[in-house]
Amino acid sequence: MADTRQQMLDTIATEARYTASMTGRRQFSEAVMQAMSDVDRAAFIPPANREQAYDNGPLPIGNGQTISQPYIVALMTDLLELTPESVVLEVGTGSGYQAAILAQLARQVYSLERIPELAETARKRFADLGYANIEVRCANGYDGWQDRAPFDGIIVTAAASEIPPALIEQLRPGGRLVIPVGPPYSYQELLLITREEAGNIRTQKILGVAFVPLINDQNTNDVTRH
Ligand code: SAH
Repeated sequence: MADTRQQMLDTIATEARYTASMTGRRQFSEAVMQAMSDVDRAAFIPPANREQAYDNGPLPIGNGQTISQPYIVALMTDLLELTPESVVLEVGTGSGYQAAILAQLARQVYSLERIPELAETARKRFADLGYANIEVRCANGYDGWQDRAPFDGIIVTAAASEIPPALIEQLRPGGRLVIPVGPPYSYQELLLITREEAGNIRTQKILGVAFVPLINDQNTNDVTRH
């Protein structure tokens, strides 16, 4: 593996140690680190920024959106505690990088993206890379994906001003929702929400983060699906 790719993994491991007191985890699972190693981030980045593909920072992916920094991708994935049987919903497909990481670890990934161009590019990318277990739909993720629910894990990769109620409803008992919550372009908190077997909802604050906003636009419709 090229040095820069190995460095990306080393940086993730170092950041995990630095943030352990906040996240409660000193390292991420071997399976998560293996997925971070197996998926080539460069394949999800526009050519103009490809040289920075393995930097531990966010990068532009077009349409005013960004791919998250690799450490945050690894952390959010680790928090989901996926198994090979898991069915996961992602809100905010963007480049498709996070979905590809999830697809390495889970049985099936459903991903929602409101910008048709991004949804279409991600779909093509998944086909080219041979991912058969990711389904992308262009729709408002605020409402979740009722037809595919319930989910073992839900990951939202844009900042919500409040927790979308549909996402809690579509979580299987025992399921985990990882979501940044806070005002747009300001301080947001990464939350881990667990729907316990008995039905209670438990919320844990994990870390301060900065995400592009989750846009709750009721006019987003399914223009690219058929
Ligand atoms: N997970 C992505 C990063 C996505 S950035 C990756 O790995 O590249 C956040 C994405 O959320 C953007 O593409 C944005 O268009 C999308 N988004 C914002 N609000 C949304 C909504 N209500 N429903 C679906 N997607 C949304």
